[in-house]
Amino acid sequence: MQKLWCWRCKMEVTMLDEDEYAIAYDLYGKMIRNTSASSREERNKDIVDYYFNLTGEMDTNPNSIIHHRIALYGPPCENCGKPYRTAKASFCAACGHKRDLNI
Ligand SMILES: [Zn+2]
Ligand SMILES: [Zn+2]
Repeated sequence: MQKLWCWRCKMEVTMLDEDEYAIAYDLYGKMIRNTSASSREERNKDIVDYYFNLTGEMDTNPNSIIHHRIALYGPPCENCGKPYRTAKASFCAACGHKRDLNI
């Protein structure tokens, strides 16, 4: 895991690497298929607990947890250090820095 700026949440969050994401994704799938839970909290519990135990951060929104995947984001901007929105982004959405994709 790694702390990265999330442009969706507009704050720094702990993001999951591919091994951690694989587990979270599995829990997310089980959550989707779980139609017997009596409440949203109970349905979300496994993935929320997993993220909390891993990162020490409480995020009760599984959709938010699942988009905090390091591989979804680009490398850090050379100018401001925030990650590009995607690996192929041609400019930084945070500061407007134009990226030289030929580096
Ligand atoms: Zn986010
Ligand atoms: Zn930037």
